[in-house]
Amino acid sequence: MQNNNNFDAVIIGGGASGLMCAVSAKLKNKNRRIAVIEKNDRVGKKLLSTGNGRCNLTNKNISPDKYCGTFKKQSGIIFEKFNTKKLLDVFKNLGLLTSCDSEGRYYPLCRQASAVLDVLRFSCERLGVEIFCSESIRSVKKSGTGFAVKTEDSLFSAKKLVIANGSKASPKLGGNSSSADYLKNFGHSLVPFSPALCPVKVQSDILKSLKGIRASARAVLLDRNNNSIKEESGEVQFADGALSGICIFNLSLYAKNGQTIRLDLLPDISLSKIYSLINNNKKLFFDLELDNIFTGIFQKRLAQALIKSSGIKDFSRKCRSLTDDEISRLANKVKSLDFPVIENCGFEQAQCALGGVKGQEIDENTMQSKLVRGLFVCGEAVDLCGECGGYNLHFAFSSGFTAGENI
Ligand SMILES: Cc1cc2nc3c(=O)[nH]c(=O)nc-3n(C[C@H](O)[C@H](O)[C@H](O)COP(=O)(O)OP(=O)(O)OC[C@H]3O[C@@H](n4cnc5c(N)ncnc54)[C@H](O)[C@@H]3O)c2cc1C
Repeated sequence: MQNNNNFDAVIIGGGASGLMCAVSAKLKNKNRRIAVIEKNDRVGKKLLSTGNGRCNLTNKNISPDKYCGTFKKQSGIIFEKFNTKKLLDVFKNLGLLTSCDSEGRYYPLCRQASAVLDVLRFSCERLGVEIFCSESIRSVKKSGTGFAVKTEDSLFSAKKLVIANGSKASPKLGGNSSSADYLKNFGHSLVPFSPALCPVKVQSDILKSLKGIRASARAVLLDRNNNSIKEESGEVQFADGALSGICIFNLSLYAKNGQTIRLDLLPDISLSKIYSLINNNKKLFFDLELDNIFTGIFQKRLAQALIKSSGIKDFSRKCRSLTDDEISRLANKVKSLDFPVIENCGFEQAQCALGGVKGQEIDENTMQSKLVRGLFVCGEAVDLCGECGGYNLHFAFSSGFTAGENI
């Protein structure tokens, strides 16, 4: 076993936060010896898949309000120093040009996630960060005043250790629970990882017939007493046994069994107006079968689902046969199509995970552990999860940069 691996800092995880941490540590002091230990055969695999291959790296509206988890309040301190402009400046200095879309989401100008990874990789090379891929870690321990990381073939010694190996989300891209295991061994408390930013499994007997359909809607997550927990607008995708789409992903941050997702399929039109529209269609499509009643408004399969869930069973009836009460029930369904929540889909479909090291055990000014001197944590290993829109990469980069400056 070789032991010429004495470093100033070892960073476990060559993802968004780990690579940014390495760059920031070297920018602060080029003479420090920094190692990144990555289990995959290359760094940044997950980064390449972000934003559908385009990498939505930050947002113009960064604020703790967009996040949940025990580090939520503290994240404000990080974001004060490391706001959108700072992140864009850091990347600009690394060679990356970016542009913002109409919803405040920033992407590389070339719309390629590989550009983000490349500028990070090339900076690491230029600055002399030592990257070790395909490493399988056997143990992570305190050793004297520093740390020892044993892999299958090597022993890495370091004065400082950074846990940047993410969460359990998306195991195919490297997600696992090892960050929690290492932190637990150092005496930290962990909120267990659970899947987030993912489709939500719901109970419904109309979902099967809607599979593959997309509709724009307002989606509201309701608690058991029908109080609104979170509201989102956007495209909802009906999947087998689950609702999906960005607005549903954002609800998944809060969704729990026993709650309900209520869809308003015409959020900009009032209930009384919808009643009039259906009444008007009754006259226009007088002699046609009932499932034509939403012609010009919804797809046929969605119309059939609305009719079925309004308790109208006989589809061979004509539009003219609709009673006022039935029209009223249909209009109400358009405004309130309810799906009781079962649970979030699993880690395979999750872009992020809730959970990680508890916020109160981490110093938000440095990302250093309050329990173990010299131990730092960044990215998804921390209990903070943001909405879709570049918020999670912003936290990964900003917490990684902060840790790097302070190791
Ligand atoms: C499909 C998809 C799309 C996404 N799109 C976006 C987006 O557009 N915008 C956005 O803001 N967020 C997006 N996210 C979320 C974002 O990618 C993560 O929040 C971010 O990558 C977290 O950074 P991290 O450094 O904590 O973890 P990661 O980027 O996951 O990096 C952790 C690294 O550690 C390595 N590792 C794990 N265990 C070990 C170990 N034991 N030893 C050594 N190495 C280890 C992993 O292989 C990985 O390379 C997306 C996620 C997914 C899955």
